[in-house]
Amino acid sequence: MDGLQLQLLIDLHKHAARQGPGGEAETKRAMELAGLDRSCTLKIADIGCGTGASAILLAKELDAAITAVDFLPEFLEELQARAHDNGLEGRITTLNCSMDSLPFSDEEYDVIWSEGAIYNMGFEAGVSAWYRFLKPGGKLVVSELTWLSNVRPFDLQSYWEKEYPQIDVASSKIGILERYGYSPKAYFPLPPHCWIDNYYRPMQNRFNEFLEQHGQTVHAKEIVEWEKDEIALYEKHRDYYSYGVYVAKKL
Ligand code: SAH
Repeated sequence: MDGLQLQLLIDLHKHAARQGPGGEAETKRAMELAGLDRSCTLKIADIGCGTGASAILLAKELDAAITAVDFLPEFLEELQARAHDNGLEGRITTLNCSMDSLPFSDEEYDVIWSEGAIYNMGFEAGVSAWYRFLKPGGKLVVSELTWLSNVRPFDLQSYWEKEYPQIDVASSKIGILERYGYSPKAYFPLPPHCWIDNYYRPMQNRFNEFLEQHGQTVHAKEIVEWEKDEIALYEKHRDYYSYGVYVAKKL
């Protein structure tokens, strides 16, 4: 991806409520499965936070100090504005940093949260690198592209082998968590409404305005076509893949 494409993608996504599939109910479910509640003050890192869909919900639901990390300053500015609108700016600190070079100390966090983002460094590299930032007994909550079955159509398999070769079945992702010292607590796949209603429909509703803003340029159209292809792929094959939400504990 070149600089122009990245800038166009930022423009298409920065005013969205979320930059990947997910949902409030699913984030709350993951909080419950991780045993997080208001009984104690928590230090949480939300890695690849985008404009703050999960960071803001965590700040509302928990007694927490949240470090929201993303490598795109445009998204963090949007997150700050939203935190302010919700009266949560005192609870969320943004950090403009890449997820593979986090400046955190060993055992600094009670919780590491990451929705729809760890694929940027790869699941295995991410869960192994982030382990040391968790306190003993700390929780990892991470969503990751996951095959929902061991059988799948050939065209889908070859698409994802090219786009994200680390896509795999849940048992293999859980195996990776075990290998790097975590104790797996829970797994559930995101249901289709997290993709369709919460992510793709709102994006489709922005396409026309986005194209107008960018004067219908070839490059803007290319981005829209690229997103449309991804949506069509999901609509055709939704039974075979989703994001899996994984909850694990550092012993
Ligand atoms: N968690 C948010 C955003 C998911 S999209 C949500 O669920 O809505 C993935 C996010 O990861 C984007 O905000 C993108 O800017 C960020 N990202 C991509 N590569 C990154 C990297 N190397 N370091 C930090 N953030 C990164």
